[in-house]
Amino acid sequence: MLEPTPIPAVTLVGAGLAGTLLAILFARRQVPVLLVERRADPRLESGDSGRSINLALAARGIAALKTAGVFARVVPLLIPMPGRQVHTRGASTFVPYGQGEHEAIYSVSRQALNRLLLDELAQLPGVVIGFNQECLGADFGPQVLRMRDAVSGQTWRLPLDRVVAADGAGSPLRHSLAAHLGIEVTEDLLAHGYKELTLPPDARGQPQFAPHALHIWPRGEFMLIALPNTDGSFTLTLFLPLKGPNSFAKLGNEAAVMEFFERHFPDVIELVPELPREFASHPVGRMGTVRCPQWTAAGRLVLIGDAAHAIVPFHGQGMNCAFEDCVALADLASAHPWAEACGRFSVARKPDADAIATMAVENYLEMRDTVREPRFHLQKALSLELERRFPRRFVPRYSMVMFHHEIPYRVAYERGAIQAEILGELTRDASGMDDVDLARAETLIVARLPELAF
Ligand code: FAD
Repeated sequence: MLEPTPIPAVTLVGAGLAGTLLAILFARRQVPVLLVERRADPRLESGDSGRSINLALAARGIAALKTAGVFARVVPLLIPMPGRQVHTRGASTFVPYGQGEHEAIYSVSRQALNRLLLDELAQLPGVVIGFNQECLGADFGPQVLRMRDAVSGQTWRLPLDRVVAADGAGSPLRHSLAAHLGIEVTEDLLAHGYKELTLPPDARGQPQFAPHALHIWPRGEFMLIALPNTDGSFTLTLFLPLKGPNSFAKLGNEAAVMEFFERHFPDVIELVPELPREFASHPVGRMGTVRCPQWTAAGRLVLIGDAAHAIVPFHGQGMNCAFEDCVALADLASAHPWAEACGRFSVARKPDADAIATMAVENYLEMRDTVREPRFHLQKALSLELERRFPRRFVPRYSMVMFHHEIPYRVAYERGAIQAEILGELTRDASGMDDVDLARAETLIVARLPELAF
């Protein structure tokens, strides 16, 4: 069983992405940290034991990793993806995300990043990490955290004081907080699930698709995506309704799976030799949006990352947003007494979390469907052209979210709505860029989009 530290520490529950980064930020600021995690130490698992699940890291996450002083170590794990490779039937088109190579997002292995952050943390003074320690919940009466040692089965307690819940989307501590405050938390599960599969490198160890892109096979109601890994493989993720004509429910046996891939992803099926086995053995994941109206109870407990605001993965921002949370809370805790810092954190970050939650849901439609339409490509090209002409006023919404950490999510959302109206008006009767009235564009932009301060 883990002995609580004798010095007053911040207790962090959950050594996932947010918990470890926040612990590093605190430890670097001489705040003693106790970090408890229900899993075993992932650094002790053999390198290839788990599936390689990757994430897209973007400017907000990078800025936070730099603040924590770890970005230089993360760089070798990254594969730049400056655009989407869209695979429609019989054709494949590269659509840049931004103005060039410098505006890229980066594929990174979740396990490798988590291990690296833990490694970095373990070297810092004032840090105690306890693995196999599950938090069962918080009791606000006696002010304790109920803990269980997963190896011995013994239960034990920690003081419910200065506790940060970084225990992910299913957060038991969010349930304790909501019960204590009498607030209503909504958890909107999508009617779509996802399954991760592996597309290995070829016989020479080379990637089977262009590695510097996020690949998408948009199919309307569903889609397949692929993110590159440093070993030449790709992690494929199939997003599909749970029920209905094209759904996980209809893919209950090998013949159905193979027929589905033959029909919808014929260019992929031959490249995934383990498809039947992986499809049968890998779980169907669920996705949803968690909205919790208040994230703290007088500083005794504060929620962060997915525990506070889990979002659907279609903007690739859950981790980026969680990392941004970490810097926000650490900065506030450096400037204010703890309880006040937690209160300010909850009030300041909630509108941003709400904005990215909404944009993430909207992006699903874009990825699986709208990306196939000629109007989408015209508006995308026009957005980038308008950004070149008016760089301080018109920044495409995707770019504000992914490449501009200095623009808060809520500002990206608000300006994005105005920009969508402008784009709609400018392209209403246009079939190509030559038909767009750029003088009208200037009038609309100057009138409706104040200059950004960056
Ligand atoms: P987690 O990473 O989930 O960590 C929570 C930790 O708490 C875990 O280690 C868990 O074991 C531990 N824990 C849980 N319960 C307890 C307990 N009771 N006691 C002790 N410990 C506990 N985000 C991006 O930015 N880019 C992407 O491309 C991206 N792609 C995604 C794709 C998919 C399919 C999914 C599902 C998510 C994706 N995300 C992405 C979102 C991202 O994974 C999360 O936002 C991020 O992991 C949140 O970090 P966290 O630390 O808050 O939670």
